[in-house]
Amino acid sequence: MKATVWTGRNSVEVQDVPDPAMLNARDAIVRVTSTAICGSDLHLVDGYIPTVKKGDILGHEFMGEVVEVGPGVRNLRPGDRVVVPFPIACGACFACEAELYSLCENSNPNAGMAEKLMGHSPAGIFGYSHMLGGFPGGQAEYVRVPFADVGPIKIEDDLPDEKVLFLSDIFPTGFMAAEMCAIRPGQTIAIWGAGPVGQLAAASAFLLGADRVIVIDRFPYRLKRAQRTGAEVLDYEEVNVLDALRDMTGGRGPDACIEAVGMEAHHPTPAMYAYDRSKQAARLETERPYALREAIMACRNGGVVSVVGVYGGFVDKFPMGTVMNRSLTIRAGQCHVQRYMRPLLDRIRSGEIDPSFVISHRMPLSEAPRGFELFKHKQDECNKVVLTP
Ligand code: NAD
Ligand code: ZN
Ligand code: ZN
Repeated sequence: MKATVWTGRNSVEVQDVPDPAMLNARDAIVRVTSTAICGSDLHLVDGYIPTVKKGDILGHEFMGEVVEVGPGVRNLRPGDRVVVPFPIACGACFACEAELYSLCENSNPNAGMAEKLMGHSPAGIFGYSHMLGGFPGGQAEYVRVPFADVGPIKIEDDLPDEKVLFLSDIFPTGFMAAEMCAIRPGQTIAIWGAGPVGQLAAASAFLLGADRVIVIDRFPYRLKRAQRTGAEVLDYEEVNVLDALRDMTGGRGPDACIEAVGMEAHHPTPAMYAYDRSKQAARLETERPYALREAIMACRNGGVVSVVGVYGGFVDKFPMGTVMNRSLTIRAGQCHVQRYMRPLLDRIRSGEIDPSFVISHRMPLSEAPRGFELFKHKQDECNKVVLTP
């Protein structure tokens, strides 16, 4: 079959690879009908994840048709249309019982590798390197789906792929980002990153009752797409974000700040807030700070900083003093997608939201390398690429 494989830093190719085979009783094989490129794939392509290997199949946002199920999968049959969540989860461990599916204790066969880097291991993830299980990803014609009795949800035929595909990741992720803010009526939420995740976080913040949402980025075409949700926007190349947010919130700062950027945040030199003795104030050492640090600095006293942008390794100069002295709450996580799929499918079905508004490019799987180029460099107004095998 054809699949998108990692062939080195800044390099992906569509290659012929062996078809997946059933390994366990709870496996299913899914024939992929739609799959997408995610900001998280860029961390692999950019070379930030050391445990990816040449030949690894990428992709963790996909849906398709079940073609084979093991004897342990009683809820699915060949022919069923399913969306598959990106974290692989057993459904029965301590984490899964607590609905913390992206922390499943039984789905990462290489947990030891992750423990060395992070202390404990999160769940396995499709197409996300060996540290997270080494599972072949979904930018392929076929995928083996472990624990297929737990993750995939069936989709009725009347809903087109594009409306439901993002239940696999970015809609639940945007929703969880907003949910972690514990939004109350009248509140203002600021979001760093007007990518698909930031845009769906904005839409979700309104679904959860936010009064105002302010989205921050530097690409006007992405800010325009964020405005479709009803959000106000700030171009951080045009304004000082901290001053603007203060002005927009009566001096107090946003009630919650969502970080939807991740570790490749645009900052030409390592940015940091340093203490300037002469001014007796914190000052920015560059004009373009890490989005995370800026979100922490901007948040009102006692507010929440909700981090869904992906970080690997250690973020140095983390402003713990700000977090501590201003009673901030930091919440973060890979999305517990399984928790959100059904309720969000209901919201799609009822017409409350159609997440397909994020799509800018559609192309055959064979053109995945071009899709990665456009998405990585934000060329041709690229916002979200959907690939069809
Ligand atoms: P994307 O690359 O399309 O969007 C990121 C946006 O951030 C870009 O528009 C970029 O211009 C903007 N940006 C860069 N530096 C900035 C700064 N200093 N201030 C404000 N904006 C800045 O990616 P995406 O698909 O929207 O994903 C966003 C992040 O969410 C990534 O880190 C991705 O890995 C992560 N993610 C996390 C989960 C999860 O479960 N937690 C799931 C999906 C994606
Ligand atoms: Zn993703
Ligand atoms: Zn589990």
